[in-house]
Amino acid sequence: MEESAEFMHLVLNSIEEHIAVIDVSGVICFVNQSWLNFGDENQCLSNQNWTEMNYLNICDQASSAGDDFGHQAGAGIRKVISGQINSYSLEYPCHSDEEHRWFIMHVSPFEFNKANYFVITHQDVTERKLAELAVKELVRLDGLTDIYNRRAFDEFLQQEWVLCLTLQQPISLAVIDLDHFKQLNDSYGHLAGDDCLKQIAQRLKKLSDSPRFWCARYGGEEFALIMGNTDVVAAKQVCDEFTEQIHRLNIPNIDSPVKPYITASIGLAEVRPTDQSNAVNLLNQADTLLYTAKEKGRNRIEISCQTPDLEWNQVSVI
Ligand code: GH3
Ligand code: MG
Ligand code: MG
Repeated sequence: MEESAEFMHLVLNSIEEHIAVIDVSGVICFVNQSWLNFGDENQCLSNQNWTEMNYLNICDQASSAGDDFGHQAGAGIRKVISGQINSYSLEYPCHSDEEHRWFIMHVSPFEFNKANYFVITHQDVTERKLAELAVKELVRLDGLTDIYNRRAFDEFLQQEWVLCLTLQQPISLAVIDLDHFKQLNDSYGHLAGDDCLKQIAQRLKKLSDSPRFWCARYGGEEFALIMGNTDVVAAKQVCDEFTEQIHRLNIPNIDSPVKPYITASIGLAEVRPTDQSNAVNLLNQADTLLYTAKEKGRNRIEISCQTPDLEWNQVSVI
């Protein structure tokens, strides 16, 4: 029997998961070697004697320090102890100064000598989580240009709208469409067209290097730029710079009726969000302005601002 207890100890100590056993009041009765090592390495409770400590108290302390995962863990463990649920799992971030880490805590009950105990395991799921995040990020990126796609753009627009509404800041949106891009494809081939899109996307990405700017490939040869906390004057400057950079790229488009190189038309709209206005309206307005820019001859920018009574004011010269 002694031998078999020692055998079980060795087995538990060889397992990578951090394992603890608590009683019905939360007092820790057993921890394995991985649990001890993790405590030491993270100096959360180094040199502490884990057994006799109350795990529920530890969760409650974390919770009162503002850690929501501490709160969730405590509540979940209590539900298993009271028999409300059979087992409980919680995925939580546990980042150190050096790396991002995620764990899953799992709680399940067992009975020994007519007393109830609960096994708590913490499993490192960082690799899986990083892979999941990478896939999520891939889904948001445009395959050709490597900037955000329309799906991500829609999310950012909503987020930035809410932020500007809350902080009472202006939001500007530019919709950018390359002029006579079909001609470029026809003259130089689809691959040259792809290369042009990539170059322009990279310029736009560089230009949007600000925490409140979000650029995306909105469609085939159409891009969009969300500018949070940016009024129309500042947004126009960004668009002018972008237009300038596109010209400087000097990508040949010999059969374009506008210029012998690639140019773009831009619709730019600014709103100060209220509960009466919405992001879709802003997007529609920028689209309408883009259409006007095309009609007026392309290689130009059309601008408007929304007034407090939700009318759109055309801004001709800034
Ligand atoms: P406009 O000035 O009115 O915008 O004319 P346009 O030729 O730019 O617009 P149109 O909508 O007539 O043609 C867009 C072209 O963009 C047609 C399509 O083949 C091309 N296109 C869309 N996506 C891609 C892509 O990923 N790569 C390449 N090379 N071409 C693309
Ligand atoms: Mg076009
Ligand atoms: Mg287009």
